[in-house]
Amino acid sequence: MVEDLIIIGSGPAGFAASIYAGRAQLSPLLITGSALGGQMALANEIENYPGFLEAINGQELTQLMQRQAERFGTRVEMDEVTGVDFSVHPFKVKTYAQEHEAKAVIISTGASSRKLGVPGEEEFTGRGVSYCATCDGFFYQNRTVIVVGGGDSAVEEAMFLTKYASKVYLVHRRNRLRAEKVTQERAFRNEKIEWVWDSVVTEILGDQGVAQARIRNVKTDEEFFLKADGIFIYIGNVPNTQFLNGQVELNERGYIVTDRKCHTSVPGVFAAGDVQEWSLQQIATAVGSGAMAAMEADKFIAELEGTTYPERTYSHVYWGKSPDLTKSLKEDNKVMVITKDMPIGQIVQKYPKTVEVFLRHGLMCFGCAIAQYEDVEQGAIAHGIDIEALMKDLNAVVPEAAGSE
Ligand SMILES: Cc1cc2nc3c(=O)[nH]c(=O)nc-3n(C[C@H](O)[C@H](O)[C@H](O)COP(=O)(O)OP(=O)(O)OC[C@H]3O[C@@H](n4cnc5c(N)ncnc54)[C@H](O)[C@@H]3O)c2cc1C
Repeated sequence: MVEDLIIIGSGPAGFAASIYAGRAQLSPLLITGSALGGQMALANEIENYPGFLEAINGQELTQLMQRQAERFGTRVEMDEVTGVDFSVHPFKVKTYAQEHEAKAVIISTGASSRKLGVPGEEEFTGRGVSYCATCDGFFYQNRTVIVVGGGDSAVEEAMFLTKYASKVYLVHRRNRLRAEKVTQERAFRNEKIEWVWDSVVTEILGDQGVAQARIRNVKTDEEFFLKADGIFIYIGNVPNTQFLNGQVELNERGYIVTDRKCHTSVPGVFAAGDVQEWSLQQIATAVGSGAMAAMEADKFIAELEGTTYPERTYSHVYWGKSPDLTKSLKEDNKVMVITKDMPIGQIVQKYPKTVEVFLRHGLMCFGCAIAQYEDVEQGAIAHGIDIEALMKDLNAVVPEAAGSE
C-alpha cells in the first residue's frame, strides 16, 4: 500500500502536521521515533504555548495532541525510521519493523540534547548524568545537583529541580543568561540556585554514581570541584537528521534547509519544527511549521494526481438521498452515508449539481467538514454552515440525488 503521507516524528511539529493532514483527508501515518512527544514531553511546565492559562506539563500536552491527531484519522505507529530512499517515487521509508512507501513525507524529527563531551559524561549517564529534569528530578530529594547551560531550558529546569534538591548550582560559560527576561527574574529570586558564571564542566567524577564535577573558570583558568549527586545538561541541541543519509540538503550544522513553506531540496519532502534551519525552536513555531508542511504536502499530492481534488476515497459522503435531509439533520441527528468508498472524481462526474451546491456552502469535501461531530447540527453551526439555506438549495437538485447509491 502506498501511503499518501508519512510524518516522521511525534513532537509538536509532527502532531500539528498530522492534525492538518488528517483534516485534509490524507489519513497520515505518523512514525513516533523513540521519544513520544519529543522534547515537548521533557518540559515540566510550559507557560508560553497559547491557550493554557496555567502552565501545562509537556507529557499532558503530548497526550492532548496525540488524541486530537487520532481523532482526525492519524495512524500512530511506534517505530523509528532507520533510512529513507528519496531517489524513487513513491518514496521509501524504512523502519525497524518494515518498509513503507509514500507519495509525500514530512520530516519532523526535531533535535536531541547536545552532549558535553567530557570524561565521565557517558560513563555516568543514567547514574547521575541526565538531560531531563522532568524524568529524573524526583530522585534528587534534598540533594545537590548541577545544571549546565544558560538558555531557557537550563534555567527553567534548574527552577524545577529546586522543588526536590536542596541546592542547585547553575554553571554557565558566560556571565549572563540567554533565557527570557521573565524566566531570569524568577530564577534570580530563587534562593536555592547558586550561580557559577564564566565556567565550564571539564570532567564528571564519581564511583557508583556522580559525586563531583571538575569546573574551569574560562576567564581565569582556575580549576575547582563542585560536589553534586546529579548533573543536568542543557547546552543546546543537535538535529536528528543522520538517518537521512544526505538525501536532502542540510546546512553545515546538520539542520534541514527549507524555504518559507517547509519545502526541502526534494520535491514532495517537507520539514517542520526544530529540525529546520533557522527555527526558533519552540513549541509554537514547531506547531506553525507542522501545519504549513501538511498543507504543502496536500497540495503536492493533489498536483501529483493532476487534479485539484485528488482521486482520494472519502469514507463519508453525505447529501440528501432522502429529500428530507433537513429532518434527518435536525431531528434524528443522523447523517446519511449514501456513497461509501466512491472516489471524489466519480462523484463530481455523477452528481455535478449537488456537488456545486455543497461547494457553494463551503462544504469542500461534501460534508466531511461536519463528519467529525456526533451532533451534525452542532458541527454545521461550528463551521458556519447555514443549514436552512443549504437545504433549500439541495432540495432544488434533489432529483439528481434521488435513487443514487
Ligand atoms: C527541557 C525542555 C523544556 C522546554 N520547554 C519549552 C517551553 O516551555 N516552551 C516551548 O515553546 N518550548 C520548550 N522547549 C522546546 C520545545 O520542546 C521544542 O522546540 C519542540 O519540542 C520542537 O518540536 P519538534 O516537533 O520540532 O521536535 P521534537 O520535540 O524534538 O520531536 C522530535 C520527534 O522526532 C522523533 N524522531 C527523531 N528521530 C526519529 C527517527 N529516526 N524516526 C522517527 N522519529 C524520530 C522523536 O522521537 C520525537 O518524537 C523545551 C525543550 C526542552 C528540552
